[in-house]
Amino acid sequence: MENLRTKDNSEYVELGLLEKKMTSELFEEIQKYRIRKCQRIEGLHKEYNAPVITLGINYPGIIKNNELTELILTEVAKQFEEIFQKKILYSKFCSMKEGSVIYYVVKGDSRTLKENTIYLEQNHDLGCFINVDVFDHDEEFPITRIELSHEPRKCYLCNEDATLCEKNKTHDHSELIDFMQKKVDEYFKHNLEKIH
Ligand SMILES: [Zn+2]
Repeated sequence: MENLRTKDNSEYVELGLLEKKMTSELFEEIQKYRIRKCQRIEGLHKEYNAPVITLGINYPGIIKNNELTELILTEVAKQFEEIFQKKILYSKFCSMKEGSVIYYVVKGDSRTLKENTIYLEQNHDLGCFINVDVFDHDEEFPITRIELSHEPRKCYLCNEDATLCEKNKTHDHSELIDFMQKKVDEYFKHNLEKIH
């Protein structure tokens, strides 16, 4: 009995270490990704002295780069560029496995820009899958919905506060991804019908 228990324990410890190792590697990877993103935003602020807007994907898990997320990002970006047109001073699509990001520098008042991007998130058919952040050139953190008296973002599956669903892991990743795929299929079907 004693031997068996020891074996069980050792297996448990090994598994624990493996998980810990993977987590710290992933953690490091995410940290690097965040630092790169901050540096890019800071660099653009210095160069243009204007608000920086990032378009990223709202997708479960750490690795977010795939055909589905690229499609969503590209489609919402088209609408974004139609809205802001000549106010866009710079744009760059950065493909990364942690999720592609499009960086824009846009002329104008940062709070007004944030209002416009909230409208885009709420009204584009695929807007709920996109995160738009607006960084004013003299502020470190993005402008929040709350400071503009908007409600926090809702979960696209159950309509609860999205951060709570994420924190409590309310939905399986597969459930979220299936929903996204369904919405993207509907979106393209609808848009092709409009063209023909
Ligand atoms: Zn939910």
